[in-house]
Amino acid sequence: MKVLVVGGGGREHALVWKLKQSPRVKEIYCAPGNAGIASLARCVPIGAEDIPALVAFAREEKIDLTVVGPEGPLARGIVDSFNRAGLAIFGPTARAAAIESSKVLAKEIMARYGIPTARFATFTDPGEAAGYIRQLNAPCVVKADGLAAGKGVIVCQTVEEALQAVKEIMVDGAFGDAGRQVVVEEYLTGQEVSVLAFTDGEAVHPLLPAQDHKQVYDGDRGPNTGGMGAYAPAPVLTPENYRVVLEDILIPAVRALAAEGRPYRGVLYAGLMVTGEGPKVLEFNARFGDPEAQPLLMLLETDLVEIMEAVLSGNLAGKEIRWRPGSAVCVVLASGGYPGAYRKGYPISGLEQVPPDVVVFHAGTAMEEGRVVTAGGRVLGVTAAGETLPEAMEKAYAAVEKIHFEGMHYRRDIGHKALGLRAQ
Ligand code: ATP
Repeated sequence: MKVLVVGGGGREHALVWKLKQSPRVKEIYCAPGNAGIASLARCVPIGAEDIPALVAFAREEKIDLTVVGPEGPLARGIVDSFNRAGLAIFGPTARAAAIESSKVLAKEIMARYGIPTARFATFTDPGEAAGYIRQLNAPCVVKADGLAAGKGVIVCQTVEEALQAVKEIMVDGAFGDAGRQVVVEEYLTGQEVSVLAFTDGEAVHPLLPAQDHKQVYDGDRGPNTGGMGAYAPAPVLTPENYRVVLEDILIPAVRALAAEGRPYRGVLYAGLMVTGEGPKVLEFNARFGDPEAQPLLMLLETDLVEIMEAVLSGNLAGKEIRWRPGSAVCVVLASGGYPGAYRKGYPISGLEQVPPDVVVFHAGTAMEEGRVVTAGGRVLGVTAAGETLPEAMEKAYAAVEKIHFEGMHYRRDIGHKALGLRAQ
């Protein structure tokens, strides 16, 4: 079969890598892809959000299955357009993806269906939001309703900071229409963990728990990024809490979306805080996480095409999903200055010295005059699996040592939280 992956980051490289292992896949394309993806797939110069061009391409090339990586095209209705054209595509419709693209909707659904989450209120009026902030007190969290490239969530240590966040989002329009409404919510403490699940709208198959590292510096310091690394499985989620996440969060969310006339098919991602009162939802995403997809797909043993087909045909209930034993770690190598301003175009050296059992997933890379160069904030995701987490970490970090580009920085503590937990 012919497969098309939409997107061009580390997550999409991991999707292409995994899909290509399926004996069912004869040809694989990626739009727009990147320098690393180009070694596995035919990259097509179509932007991930150019839905009409993607539909036309899929029609012309007779693509049998399209897989969408990022949230932007999902929120804009890529799945609806492909469905109308009679083309098979893996991912939720725009109405279902609104669980990610509207934080107000997500919170309202959680409240209506009793899904554990932080106490909150939603506002269209900045004055009313300010009143609630004074009543709730700090610390608290202010969130723009819509998609804001991971920047629309502001964790506020003081009431003044929260009032300023409301002003920036609602009055100054820092995120445009995405900030017309805000969620103000209680600040939760605990460790974060992500649980993703495949669902066909009825059956829900959770993946291994994974842990992302959002802050740029070791010890969770510094500003938030798109994610500096991830590992799976994450032991912070005990088997008991894993069951709670499935039974009290993921299954009710899928049922709720169906009941609301938003039947959900694809991967549903629950970003969670493990609090003293158990796991609570920070956010839902309508797609694989980046970088969580990299270690998760490395550990997934089952053919991903078969899982996706079971999702699309509504037969997920009968499908067994197998994992290779052990752990996997992804360490993100970022451009100097990221998540602030950074320069692009620096040559990347040492990729050929990485041992064959470590996979370097490319994120922001491009080919220039036959050389791989930096082309984004997050540049590479060095990913390794091992029988144990320390073994996976050792392999990944040993490979990181081989790679270099001007200004390169990365976290040296991906996986440490899990080791701390185990040592206790
Ligand atoms: P993503 O880029 O993953 O889509 P996002 O911009 O949609 O993220 P969230 O994941 O909702 O935003 O929040 C970003 C981060 O803010 C979380 O990973 C968490 O660290 C912090 N956060 C969000 N809500 C809360 C909360 N209620 N209490 C404490 N921290 C929170």
